Amino acid sequence: MEDSIHYRPTQAIVDLAAIRANVRNLKDYLGSETAVIAVVKADGYGHGEVEVAQAAFEAGAEMVSVATPDEAIRLRMAGISGDILVMGPSPLVFAEKAAELGIILTVSSAEWLQSALDVSEKFMQQLKIHVKIDSGMGRIGLRDEGALRSLMSVVNSTKQVLLDGIFTHFACADEENTENTEEQFIKFMRLVQTLSEKPRLVHASNSAASLLYPEYALDAVRFGIGLYGITPSEYVGGKLPFRLERSLRIESELAYVKLLEVGNRISYGGTYVTSSAEWIGTIPIGYADGLRRGLRGQEVLIDGERMPIIGTICMDQCMVKLPRELAVGEKVVLIGRQDKEEVTMEEWAERLGTIPYEIAVSIAKRVPRIYTGKDGQNI
Ligand SMILES: *Cc1c(COP(=O)(O)O)cnc(C)c1O
Repeated sequence: MEDSIHYRPTQAIVDLAAIRANVRNLKDYLGSETAVIAVVKADGYGHGEVEVAQAAFEAGAEMVSVATPDEAIRLRMAGISGDILVMGPSPLVFAEKAAELGIILTVSSAEWLQSALDVSEKFMQQLKIHVKIDSGMGRIGLRDEGALRSLMSVVNSTKQVLLDGIFTHFACADEENTENTEEQFIKFMRLVQTLSEKPRLVHASNSAASLLYPEYALDAVRFGIGLYGITPSEYVGGKLPFRLERSLRIESELAYVKLLEVGNRISYGGTYVTSSAEWIGTIPIGYADGLRRGLRGQEVLIDGERMPIIGTICMDQCMVKLPRELAVGEKVVLIGRQDKEEVTMEEWAERLGTIPYEIAVSIAKRVPRIYTGKDGQNI
């Protein structure tokens, strides 16, 4: 995709060198005892699952993880040969395929594992599993010792299954209050200690916990949002133990520029009316690209300055108020740095009353991803 020609100047530029730097810096911070599981679900948080997985492995990540079986299959088929963990639930019929492709599954109940064995032919190779413990997230996972014991008796009843890991997920690690996270960690470790044999990888931390609770790093951390240089929350942003390198920018160009007299309406609904003679620029990006309608008023960067989006954002285009005449073809940065100014996903998220995660995954497929910093370039 990155090598094809695009005639629309709107594009997302993904810096793979930044992703590699984030993996390396995390590894330096946590030390060699802790493996990095790079989370590349949801198409690598919108950055491109295959390219990000590749970059993460190049930088020393030991495993990648995704949310769904289809995501794991796509990575394998694209030639990603390293360990892939599916963190979400899988249907029973996927167990056989997972074993065949060497995809590691998350298991949250004895019944699921027994049924998967019952409905499957003999696995081509051992099915690797990570057991999920629900220590307080309330999503999926075993909640007590009895449930874990039942699952272990299924695991121990067959040579077809290999228990490779056990993990939990924190619900509040990005907040200032540490109580919930401490409670979850204690509950998790108490259950882990009931196992007669510790599996290879015991893991708990997401990005926020990886950064703020290095003492909980255990055998591995699951690093998602931080991999992309985005801060999990404003609180974590103020406490970073090392700099996160941003890996995505969104750029376009001025496609049309005009001078309007006072009293002219702009865009659907005519809700913006020029209050004097105004220079108006049109940018070929709209809500079908992920520039949500609620981003009206958000500033973009042109010629190193902030300029506001005015009027209703259309599906494919939007308008900006220019301080002076600017040329068609002038670069527009919607997310990223230009000279001294920077617009971040966090800024969009705040305007939309959401979290930067949601911004990252809502940059539409229509926006081509252009990769820089490949294969060790730029670093
Ligand atoms: C998405 C996800 C992560 C990654 O979370 P970040 O906050 O992006 O680091 C880790 N573990 C599980 C189970 C997840 O679903």
